[in-house]
Amino acid sequence: MTADVIDGKAFAATLRARVGTEARRFEADSGRKAGLAVVLVGEDPASQVYVRSKHKATVEAGMASFEHRLPADAAEAELLALVAQLNADPSVDGILVQLPLPPHMDEAKVIAAIDPDKDVDGFHVVNVGRLATGLHGFVPCTPLGCLMLLKERLGDLSGLEAVVIGRSNIVGKPMAQLLLQESCTVTIAHSRTRNLPEMVRRADIVVAAVGRPEMVKADWIKPGATVIDVGINRLPPTGDESKGRLVGDVAYDEVRDVAGAITPVPGGVGPMTIAVLLRNAVVAAYRNAGLDLPKDRL
Ligand code: NAD
Repeated sequence: MTADVIDGKAFAATLRARVGTEARRFEADSGRKAGLAVVLVGEDPASQVYVRSKHKATVEAGMASFEHRLPADAAEAELLALVAQLNADPSVDGILVQLPLPPHMDEAKVIAAIDPDKDVDGFHVVNVGRLATGLHGFVPCTPLGCLMLLKERLGDLSGLEAVVIGRSNIVGKPMAQLLLQESCTVTIAHSRTRNLPEMVRRADIVVAAVGRPEMVKADWIKPGATVIDVGINRLPPTGDESKGRLVGDVAYDEVRDVAGAITPVPGGVGPMTIAVLLRNAVVAAYRNAGLDLPKDRL
């Protein structure tokens, strides 16, 4: 069997187009653009790339993008004051503080300062609690993107066995909550899990979010399972490569022969993250303006 490739890039493009439609509708209904503010502290090169691509995607989707940069040595109080200002600004619907923050800043304190109804990253404990209890809130972008891909591929997930490898607050835990909400039987595996291959072999759905290149092997996979690879790992360059290849947490070439469907790296989960961020920002705009956005539209 050769697995179907789940084309996250194409799905993300469709989602972004739908977000654009809803952003225009929002503007027509409210008289203003939906607004997303991104805050970057310091000059971490990877964060700068992310912030640039978020800005570009926000503008392309027909939303207002507000970019705020603070120097790496800014005081935590300065960042908290900026967050308070964005919380109070009615033209800002979503606030994203790019992580990681410099070591002298307390990330938990900064996230806690964001208005939960503008927390489009879904990291605020209020949104974590809403997800855990099945209330409406914001869900972290990467796992929500994974769920969208799974539902597109499998339809109803009810009763399926899911194994999530990784228990981070950003990916693993919210992914498990989302699958539970879809009535999957969910196991969360992590670095202390015993007999991981055996556990993964039970799964109809495998989500790998570990950060270890090509860790999940073909003989861990139940034939026909759906495999979502969240990992992004750069291998050391070989031969005349200037940069090493990007690979996921799944040994793609061999797992393809066993799985029913699989996301590639790159081009699988990665493109979904920004598309879901834009989706969350438009949803925030509708909610903040007290306007109705029917659930099936985004
Ligand atoms: P993290 O380092 O916070 O968490 C990794 C998890 O893997 C931990 O919970 C740990 O217990 C588990 N783990 C480590 N070694 C293990 C082992 N040998 N067996 C089983 N579990 C093990 O990482 P994260 O932020 O959740 O990210 C995971 C991966 O996903 C990384 O490669 C990251 O780059 C990628 N990622 C991609 C996107 C995207 O947009 N596609 C977004 C976020 C993260």
